[in-house]
Amino acid sequence: MHPSPTPPPRQPLPRVPPGSVLGAVAVLLVVTLVSIAQAPGPLLPPAAQHALGAVGQKVRSAGGTALQSVLPSPRPAAKAPAVDTATINASSQALRDIPSGYLATYVVAAKQCPRLTWQVLAGIGKVETNHGRSQAPGVHSGLNSAGCCAGPMQFNLTNGPPSTWDAFGRGDVYDPADAIPAAARKLCANGLAGPPPPRDACPQVHGPFALHQALLRYNNACWYVHEVVTIAQRYTSPASSTGTPGTSTGKPTAGRAAASHDPFVLALVHNPRITTTTSHGCDPAPDLASGWLDLRVQSILAAVADHYKVRISCLHTGHSKYVKGTTRVSNHTVWRAVDLDQVDDQPVSPTSPAARDLTGWLDGLQGPLRPDEVGSPFPIGHQPFFTDDGHQAHVHIGYSALQ
Ligand SMILES: [Zn+2]
Repeated sequence: MHPSPTPPPRQPLPRVPPGSVLGAVAVLLVVTLVSIAQAPGPLLPPAAQHALGAVGQKVRSAGGTALQSVLPSPRPAAKAPAVDTATINASSQALRDIPSGYLATYVVAAKQCPRLTWQVLAGIGKVETNHGRSQAPGVHSGLNSAGCCAGPMQFNLTNGPPSTWDAFGRGDVYDPADAIPAAARKLCANGLAGPPPPRDACPQVHGPFALHQALLRYNNACWYVHEVVTIAQRYTSPASSTGTPGTSTGKPTAGRAAASHDPFVLALVHNPRITTTTSHGCDPAPDLASGWLDLRVQSILAAVADHYKVRISCLHTGHSKYVKGTTRVSNHTVWRAVDLDQVDDQPVSPTSPAARDLTGWLDGLQGPLRPDEVGSPFPIGHQPFFTDDGHQAHVHIGYSALQ
């Protein structure tokens, strides 16, 4: 969940004055937690672990760094029973990628909403926080960098009243055992339980109208709906999937890519505000059409094209395997980067206003769209931005592995 362009005013988290009663409790809790952390094997039943987690969170909000080092992270989804993975239509990718506690919680939570699949909940969990693995602000404590949202499913705590979490949440927003069922309640209330809408708000995305509507209420962008729907499809076993031709799940090992039939990819290929060139030794057009690009690169291209006319000079094919002058594998090699050599018909250069504007626009992005590396001619001066001799004539946008 991410803020609209004009986010509501931030409400400060409650602060605990130094030396309060809670401070004394925190000291005791540190002792308790340290002894638990050092003890082998599970000492507490799941319900007790959950209760301890809730108390730990309140103390953690008070800002104790010593406590953070002994709190489990990410915390287990302790309420959900184990699931029989043979009966849930999970792909091998899903079983590899989703922590078992999260998987069980997604499966159980989805059952409360008849038209919701656990794979959709897992798709949201992947896009929002990589199933709680993200160490970004707001995932395990506090609020995200936009100052609104928190927990593994990134619920908004500061909108409303009532806030989205107050409307759908029960318990601890940072605990997947509470946050994932809340997300299921929200999706059901936002469209999955009622009649389908008369028109599809994201016609360039596979899937039912009602699901698109519910996901747009989670994050109001069709690239977001596409990411969640595509990941949900990848998490579904091929034998049970209804099939989405062209949404490739694997990466090519050799040879040229076949064109994808994913309507989102086709929309990018036919978007008049996105063109390609072979003038820099790369061949980006078939790469774009293949559907093999990381979903985040597909998403940033769709979002960029809403604001700028761009020309792609490199995606994957033709790029050197390593980052220039290093033995580090380039994000281009693993389909996670794009180079743009023209913005609004101007060649990218240190004196191009459009390229400078695009670079500043990238710096305003929050959440899943925010790049992990941006090379440009402009000295922005902070991460993830850099400039060097190799980035005077294009803007490079790259994403890191989600691990
Ligand atoms: Zn590049």
